[in-house]
Amino acid sequence: MRYLIISDIHSNLEALEAVLRASASRKCDGVIVLGDLVGYGADPNAVVDRIRGLKPIATVRGNHDKVAAGLENADDFNPMAKAAAMWTQTALSDQTLDYLKKMPVGPLLVNELLEICHGSPLDEDLYVVGDLDAIRSIAASRRQLCLFGHTHVALRASVDGKKTLEIETPQGNPEFETTLLSGAKYLINPGSVGQPRDGDSRAAYAIADLDEQVVTLYRVAYPIEIAQSKILEAGLPPMLAYRLGMGR
Ligand code: ZN
Repeated sequence: MRYLIISDIHSNLEALEAVLRASASRKCDGVIVLGDLVGYGADPNAVVDRIRGLKPIATVRGNHDKVAAGLENADDFNPMAKAAAMWTQTALSDQTLDYLKKMPVGPLLVNELLEICHGSPLDEDLYVVGDLDAIRSIAASRRQLCLFGHTHVALRASVDGKKTLEIETPQGNPEFETTLLSGAKYLINPGSVGQPRDGDSRAAYAIADLDEQVVTLYRVAYPIEIAQSKILEAGLPPMLAYRLGMGR
């Protein structure tokens, strides 16, 4: 099976459409979503409608989905994220709200090879940013491959048979490939569709080919200026528009 992996879309319809267009020729059997459909961007309903229409084979909720759905308060959010979460709550249709409320809690076992989560297998809200988070998360994962999001940074962490940790980032590489070797475990973040923070402003996604045991991370350009003007027109914090252009 080949799966399209998308994470941290954050109400950015233009980025999501670009990813779906670019990945269409890559012949996937299904879509897996790693959370944060909404928050920050101006199109929460359109993004959730689009995702619902794709009928993902597996999804987990993100922290922004939880807050938008009213399942958790925004006390842990910075002022900009909080303002966006409050705006999102007022913008949600009943149908979107219902979908967000019912999103599954991660981590989630997809099959014999794959586990997914928003933050970490240890905790759905944990940010995997350093060596220690990565090695603890890999140890906690119950599958050879764990896909995660939340940090908006495309990354591969792996532990081989000798328990040596390796962390690599695509660093601008438009096709960053990982072949899964037996005896090793992998923690891979495809990066963010709708708000990349690794300095590359292009939308990020991945394709996991579980038959070939290969995960490839891709980037695709999208019309950032359209997403930016929608954010400004909606009265969301302007920095949320500017950061899209910086990839931060
Ligand atoms: Zn996010």
